[in-house]
Order: sequence, then structure tokens, then C-alpha cells
Amino acid sequence: MILIDGKKAAAELREELKKEVSELKTKYNKVPGLTVILIGDMAPSQIYVRNKEKSANEVGLKSEVIKYPEAVEEKTILDKIEELNNDETVSGILVQLPLPKHIDKQKVIEAIAPSKDVDGFHPMNVGNLSSGYESSVPCTPLGCYLMIKKIEPNLNGKKAVMVGRSNLNGKPMAQLLLKENCTVTITHSKTKDLKAECLEADIIVAAVGIPELVKADWVKKDAIVIDVGINKTDKGIVGDVAFEEVSKVAKALTPVPGGVGPMTIACLLKNTIECFKRSQR
Ligand code: NAD
Repeated sequence: MILIDGKKAAAELREELKKEVSELKTKYNKVPGLTVILIGDMAPSQIYVRNKEKSANEVGLKSEVIKYPEAVEEKTILDKIEELNNDETVSGILVQLPLPKHIDKQKVIEAIAPSKDVDGFHPMNVGNLSSGYESSVPCTPLGCYLMIKKIEPNLNGKKAVMVGRSNLNGKPMAQLLLKENCTVTITHSKTKDLKAECLEADIIVAAVGIPELVKADWVKKDAIVIDVGINKTDKGIVGDVAFEEVSKVAKALTPVPGGVGPMTIACLLKNTIECFKRSQR
């Protein structure tokens, strides 16, 4: 079984991106810039943002974190986004989710210029991705996609099953694999026989939020299994896939932690660089 090492894959990607940033600096005499807006003091968001900033600096991006207190008005955020949309030194804008309840998430997402939307959540990017046009792609599925392609460069005709249909994971992941000529099934909480659907799959991507939902007897021999889930349990952090037993059946499997997570951040940097390059055309 191939244990897909997300930390190693992310380190390799960061190395490539570092080289690219240095070439862009030589060519344009400036570097891509990532601005993250962080609202409130929720511990997980603080950690995510700190890691994003650290990784951005590591590859040579110009990075900035703008912090606001939990009670900040929605208008203040929307005005700041407009200012950043018009700031040439900012290539990518990310507003760390979740947001406080009094701030309309969709309004914030739609305020970000699609050309600077490094999360790929703007409806324009969602539409472009589903139409097969150039777009920013949400970072987590992009990372999963790159890891799958490393294992299996030719995905023509493969059966792929998404477990979970979120806008963040299942849906964009399905679009990426469809573009690679996979036959894609998207399952969700109302799917009648999830086990039977999974058993058909050459590729399973589990993004549900239920600890160890996907069992060994759901997995076809030699399937590629990508585990997006992050679940806090009594025995520590586990994914949506029963790792030990599935590792005996799968051809390749991502661990949790150390699989999809590190690649998500590396892909945010990749998206920032792509936004910069498109802005220079
Ligand atoms: P979400 O809650 O938005 O969506 C969960 C999906 O799972 C829904 O589409 C729902 O229909 C489906 N679902 C729920 N119960 C189900 C069941 N019994 N059978 C089949 N499908 C079922 O979740 P999300 O934002 O996509 O996140 C999913 C998991 O991935 C969470 O554990 C989250 O923490 C993790 N996550 C990890 C990363 C990362 O970088 N590794 C990034 C984002 C999310």
C-alpha cells in the first residue's frame, strides 16, 4: 500500500513554488501578495492563519494578516475587501471562515474580486470550474487532486465516488475529476446504499466529518482513498476513513493527520501565484 505523504508532497510543492516566485520576481520586479482577513479569536482559525502566513513567507510571497475583533461591523470588512480589490500589490484575498453570525458569509465571498479569490468560493469561480474554464479552485480539493494525479496520472474512465457534497470539498472535487474523464458519483447523507456506491469506486474521496465512516469492506481492492475528514475523538484526531483496516485493501491512502491538510495550505500559495500570473497578462 502506498501511504500518501501529504507533508512530503506539500514540501515538494512549496519548493517548486519558491523557485517560481523567485523567477517571477526577476521577471516583474515584484512578488505575489496574499492578504488574509481574520475576524475574532477562535483558536483553530488563529492556528490556520499563522500556518498560512508562515508558509507564504517561506516561499517568498508578500503576506499580510489583517485582524479584526469578533464584533467588527460587516461594512468594515466589505470596505476593506474593496480597498484590497483595488490594491495592485495584493494578488490574493482570503477571509478566514467561519465568520461571526452577524456577518453574511455569502456577501463577503461575493465582495472579493473573482480574480483575487484564492479560496475559489466566488460564484464566478465556481461557475468557471464547472464549465471547464480557467478558475481558482478551492485549496483542499486541489491538493487532493494533485495527490491523486501523482499516484495515477491517467484517470480516463476511472470510477470516482465523492462521499460528501459540500461546496468546499465534494462538489469542486467532483468537477476536477470529471475534467479528468472520471465517471463521478457524488454521495451524501441521503444516499440509499453508501457502501454499495463506494464498492464501485477506483477512487474514493471522503469529506464528511464522521470518524472512520468508510470501512475496509466498502473499499474495492486497489482503490485510491483520500481522507479529507478531521475529527476530534477520544483517541485523538482521526479521519473519515478507518485507516488501519482500509490500508489493507487500498492501493494508496492518505493518513490523518499528515495527508490532505498540509497540501491544502500549499495549494493556497499556488492559487495566490496563479492569480498574480493572470493579473500580469
Ligand atoms: P460539510 O459539513 O460542509 O459537509 C459534509 C457532507 O457530508 C455533506 O454533504 C453531507 O451530506 C455529507 N454527509 C453527512 N453525513 C453523511 C453520511 N452519513 N453519509 C454520507 N454523507 C454524509 O463538511 P466539509 O466542510 O466538506 O468537511 C468535511 C470534513 O472535512 C470535516 O471533517 C472537516 O473538518 C474536514 N476538512 C478538512 C480539510 C483539510 O484541509 N484537511 C479542509 C476542509 C474540511
